[in-house]
Amino acid sequence: MKRGRNTVKGKARSITTTRVHAGDPDPRPDGAVRMPIYQSVMFEFDGTDTGGARYIRYNNTPNQVALGVKLAAIENAEAGLVTASGMAAISSTLLTVTSAGDHILALDSLYGGTHEFVHGHLPRFDVSHSTIDGDQPETWAQLVRPETKVVYVETITNPLVRVPDHRAIVAFSKAHGLVSIIDNTFASPANFRPIELGYDVSVHSCTKYINGHSDVVAGALLGSADMIARVRKTMLSLGGSLDPHAAFLVQRGVTTLAVRVRQHNDSALRIAHFLEAHPKIARVAYPGLESHPDHTRAAELFDGYGGMLAFEVDGGLEAAERFLHALTIPILAPSLGGPETLVTRPATTSHVGLSPEERAALGISDGLIRCSVGLEDADELIEDFTQALG
Ligand SMILES: *Cc1c(COP(=O)(O)O)cnc(C)c1O
Repeated sequence: MKRGRNTVKGKARSITTTRVHAGDPDPRPDGAVRMPIYQSVMFEFDGTDTGGARYIRYNNTPNQVALGVKLAAIENAEAGLVTASGMAAISSTLLTVTSAGDHILALDSLYGGTHEFVHGHLPRFDVSHSTIDGDQPETWAQLVRPETKVVYVETITNPLVRVPDHRAIVAFSKAHGLVSIIDNTFASPANFRPIELGYDVSVHSCTKYINGHSDVVAGALLGSADMIARVRKTMLSLGGSLDPHAAFLVQRGVTTLAVRVRQHNDSALRIAHFLEAHPKIARVAYPGLESHPDHTRAAELFDGYGGMLAFEVDGGLEAAERFLHALTIPILAPSLGGPETLVTRPATTSHVGLSPEERAALGISDGLIRCSVGLEDADELIEDFTQALG
């Protein structure tokens, strides 16, 4: 079986079309229209294949390869590598581009698992960091040292959905010879393709929008063929390979990414407008609202504003708890990007590890509610929010 297509029938196609067709094996095995599952640890090897032996942990068996090709195609990257989780992609990438003595610049607000890796683990390998404010490009240069190697950011922050100045980050990284890494999980390739803007590596938790069905853990990284080959070597040692059955499920999920994300975008924007106009809502954070501090930037960079929003109910913690328990459609649960609408209080979930003072500094009050808007009927979600606020 040859490398999959990232064009369709030899012709370059739009991202909407490659979402459906890219990564299909060519020729199709037994004519199978959907990528079959190759649940085999090893493949025959007579020593002549220049690509080397195929073995499941090497992440070079058919389902793993096909999914990597597909994800690279939809994000317009040269190459892709799938991993056992988003954190496997993030840790394998950071451990590839840093060595003892190095320093990295990291966004001041990071996904909890990444925060723990950068603050809790990298220092044990003598990799230090400084944090940057994604909105203050003029403050970054003074943090660069001779041993600075990397800038690590996220497309949209959690939970206040801020959008860092991505154009400035790319320009700054190039000017200082730094490897730029972006976690594009919250936007998904449907709304933003960071490699097109000039980022070196895009990492994903495919557990979220890319799989989109809240039933698989997986990750991926996308970038140049050379970078992907380097990270692959690290990943082989760390062992974060993706099981073929999980790869099959993610391949199925990503096929419908475009239509799902369109619905997430549309519903979240409607709900954000509804909340903003509601007298019992103290504030709403959604990049699609003109009141959001990064609205202009988001409008320029993204194809859609995503399915994540945060808001505060008048009356603080008590009112928030009453509201959450009065909802009948959304589920009180962490995570995001699935078909079901999820609500959480970041103070008790994603940011529970921070002190109240640290949370306050980030603008995360105890009553703040984060919502991953799902694929339910938006009118019925708004109806449910209305009764819960009453
Ligand atoms: C969930 C998530 C991760 C980690 O992904 P896992 O698949 O759970 O390892 C990383 N970054 C962001 C932004 C996430 O939401």
